Amino acid sequence: MFRLDSKKVIVAVVPFFILLIAWMLAMGTFVSKNELNAIFITIPYIFAFFAMVLSVWFQHSRVFYSVCVILFSVAVLSNPGRLNHKAFRNGISIILPIVFIILAIVEERGVISKHGLFKGLVVTALVLVVVLDSGNVNQMFGKLKPMEFMLRDVENVQGIPVLSVLLFFACLCVLLARFLLRSSNMDMAFTGATLGCFIILHFTGFPDVLALFSSAVFLIFVIALFEASYSLAFNDALTGLLSRRAMEQEFLRIGSRYTLAMVDIDFFKQVNDRFGHQVGDEVLRMVASCLKKYVRGGKVFRYGGEEFVIIFPRKTIKETLQILERARRGIQGRPFVIRGPNRPKRKPKNGKLPPGSNEKIRITVSIGVAEKTEKMRNRTDAEIIEMADKAVYQAKANGRNCIVY
Ligand code: GH3
Ligand code: MG
Ligand code: MG
Repeated sequence: MFRLDSKKVIVAVVPFFILLIAWMLAMGTFVSKNELNAIFITIPYIFAFFAMVLSVWFQHSRVFYSVCVILFSVAVLSNPGRLNHKAFRNGISIILPIVFIILAIVEERGVISKHGLFKGLVVTALVLVVVLDSGNVNQMFGKLKPMEFMLRDVENVQGIPVLSVLLFFACLCVLLARFLLRSSNMDMAFTGATLGCFIILHFTGFPDVLALFSSAVFLIFVIALFEASYSLAFNDALTGLLSRRAMEQEFLRIGSRYTLAMVDIDFFKQVNDRFGHQVGDEVLRMVASCLKKYVRGGKVFRYGGEEFVIIFPRKTIKETLQILERARRGIQGRPFVIRGPNRPKRKPKNGKLPPGSNEKIRITVSIGVAEKTEKMRNRTDAEIIEMADKAVYQAKANGRNCIVY
């Protein structure tokens, strides 16, 4: 579900920042338009190339096919040849939001795969309809009524069809809904790209606007692809916590004073053995969410398996004990409900479930804490982890569900 943090906000704002820069350039804020034409005419193709290579590399068919359609549209709009410019522009403005919606809804399964190629076929078929229509004498898309609500006084600008405006709006709604539900920055990138494409299609008579905004859209995709691959390496997919790799990065910048807590779930293997791996995964998620909720002034990482590491920069053990104790109690106090096999599909009217339909288990954790002080400058971070690990062993020996330091 949607949760706000400063890094997410910054990444989500990037697409709109790029659009703003493109807009200011198009208005001639930084350099004159004549200089711009010469500089920017090839840039969209360079950015598109990067976006395509990266999307194939990271197996991102959603970005790959979107870039293909936009690139093809920009190339034709800059030089329509025998195609009717207006019909092509109207046709693309109708299929582009449809393509964005389809690619947002259909599951991502890579570019070079059966599913990826099928998506490619559907997108190509839609583009082909527009190309064939705009090559005709009697074009269907050319006759669509424009919506003249924006900048109708500007020369060369004719609003895109009403249907396109509605489809663009529907597309923005789908993307924003997806962003709020999944909090995925790729949806924010697509929201920016949708607005960028809307501007491109609205101002097709202006080559500099076309070049600038298509560059902006491709750049948005390049940044989003880098961000997605970064997030894959530095976040744990199961729990949403930072990964062990992120922990190693943290050590590089942390300084010489910190406290490190190692948290290990008690008898976790038994949970897996009795209820299956899926329930085990649920337990991991529950513990991760408790740690996130209770830990203040520290960063939580999934170290591996059922072990978590919390790093408190510039804090002593004494300063962290209260927080850790609260987390330990919080986990212990949160009953974990397992659905039994004879649980009815619908809740009975009297609200009472038959006996045995639910089983409640209590999850506990053992915590080992170690501190790195100024005097221990020569100790490596691996040695501090080892100290915390030894403390966990001691906590297990002391009967589990406790903190040792
Ligand atoms: P102790 O109280 O001494 O810590 O006992 P334990 O059972 O928690 O510890 P042990 O190290 O014996 O078992 C850890 C288990 O965690 C073994 C492994 O199958 C399971 N495990 C590791 N990663 C995952 C995971 O991602 N999902 C699930 N469901 N299980 C995992
Ligand atoms: Mg363990
Ligand atoms: Mg364990």
